[in-house]
Amino acid sequence: MPVFKLVVAFNYLLLIVPTYSLNTVEIVPNIISRQNWHARQPVERELLEVTPTPYVVIHHGGEPKYCYDEKTCSAIVRQYQNFHIDDRHWFDIGYSFVIGEDGNVYEGRGWDYVGAHAPGYNTQSIGICIIGDFSNFVPNEKALKTLNDLIKYGVKLRKIRGDYHILGHRQARSTLCPGTAFYKYVQTLPRWTNHPIPNYSNGTTTTLAL
Ligand SMILES: [Zn+2]
Repeated sequence: MPVFKLVVAFNYLLLIVPTYSLNTVEIVPNIISRQNWHARQPVERELLEVTPTPYVVIHHGGEPKYCYDEKTCSAIVRQYQNFHIDDRHWFDIGYSFVIGEDGNVYEGRGWDYVGAHAPGYNTQSIGICIIGDFSNFVPNEKALKTLNDLIKYGVKLRKIRGDYHILGHRQARSTLCPGTAFYKYVQTLPRWTNHPIPNYSNGTTTTLAL
């Protein structure tokens, strides 16, 4: 009997331990590809020269439209892209990535291309937008966790520098983005900087951002 118990316990450990360590070491956010949210083709693309990027710029959508499932979030991301291409006349959706309160990441320009989201930072940052208006309250836990996971994942992929700094869009130009409540949260993040250094020397065609 003692031998039988030992075998059972050993098998149990074999099942539990590897799963546990994988989950704690690898935190990969769920990224919905452009194809899966039915993105339009970009008009043009410009490779980031500064990579890994020293900055991450945080945005909110600025509209009181929220989403909690992939279908609804995808539709909002398509609206952002249409607005940025058709009304703003940019090459593509302005952000590198968009996050929904469904906990998913929606691939915008991605890790490798210059964005159109914050003048002075488009050529040296990853721009991340959370869907919704966060003037009066912060995004839900799911979205905040995904934001954290996405940045960590970017560092791991060497797309974001290990010693990166975070800033809110309003630090790049006169705008309320990412919303007063959310900006207060951004300021509590350990990598937030009060002294970001803009770079206006290149990427002039894409620096006219929201
Ligand atoms: Zn913004």
